[in-house]
Amino acid sequence: MISADTRLFGAVEAGGTKFVCAIGDASGRLIAEHRLATRDPASTLAETFAFLHRVESQHGRLDAIGLASFGPVDLDRRSPTYGRILKTPKPGWSQVDLVGGFTREFGARVGFDTDVNAAACAEHRWGAARDADTLVYVTIGTGIGGGVLAGGRPLHGLMHPEIGHVYPRRHAFDRDFAGVCPFHRDCLEGLASGPAIAARSGAPLDRLEDSHPQWDIEADYLGQLCAQLVFTLSPQRIILGGGVMNQARLLPMVRCQARHWLQDYLDRPELSSGLDRYIIAPGLGAQSGVLGALALAIDAAEASAR
Ligand code: ZN
Repeated sequence: MISADTRLFGAVEAGGTKFVCAIGDASGRLIAEHRLATRDPASTLAETFAFLHRVESQHGRLDAIGLASFGPVDLDRRSPTYGRILKTPKPGWSQVDLVGGFTREFGARVGFDTDVNAAACAEHRWGAARDADTLVYVTIGTGIGGGVLAGGRPLHGLMHPEIGHVYPRRHAFDRDFAGVCPFHRDCLEGLASGPAIAARSGAPLDRLEDSHPQWDIEADYLGQLCAQLVFTLSPQRIILGGGVMNQARLLPMVRCQARHWLQDYLDRPELSSGLDRYIIAPGLGAQSGVLGALALAIDAAEASAR
């Protein structure tokens, strides 16, 4: 039952392959949810708007809407293109004005950030990092993206972090693979994303034998990433999610490789005996993204109330 004074928020995880739309309350409870494949912007947004209008008519007006979007996006509120998706290889989506579109459609406050920054917010608010306010959330799937929470706030700067496009050192058994990133070829996403694994090995990780070298290659690249994150951002927690991380045996291998690349340079128990509580799986599972959008909506409503 939803009581009449429950504040309701819209949440839209705008992903490159699917949109997850929901409404929820301030406690992180989702009340209704709708998933759709990401198609062209007009029809995708029309279906999203229709769902939110339907739930508004059933449950009451939305206080605010949170949009957790695939990137790159413009997060600079002073910019004339604030709220838009920037240049993307996804056909038709470059320059789509997400914040403007939802604001015009619903007249509600709209919170906006990258899907991974939003997921980091959700993990801090309700998930595996409630006791850490500086953390990194990385998703390893069709692409690789990372969101950063610094002092409890999503890190924006020039734009937002694009953690998937750093360059790892090549694994000894992976000298010849060109990489699949359309921009950089052999950046981390080009070498360790799901499509990179499939291009190199001919199959996804879960169909490769435990002894297949792909496992070590993947763990090595992700271990390098974790070490680089420790050295550059000094997070209190690193959360690794996404489809590739669904293979349970991978996470301990990544920790082992991270330890190797850290080389005991930093004398902290979190980075040695405590590594299994430092590099962890998401507490919210596959719902980090949509709950992140909900967190953005709640933050937007709170900001407008101040
Ligand atoms: Zn790249």
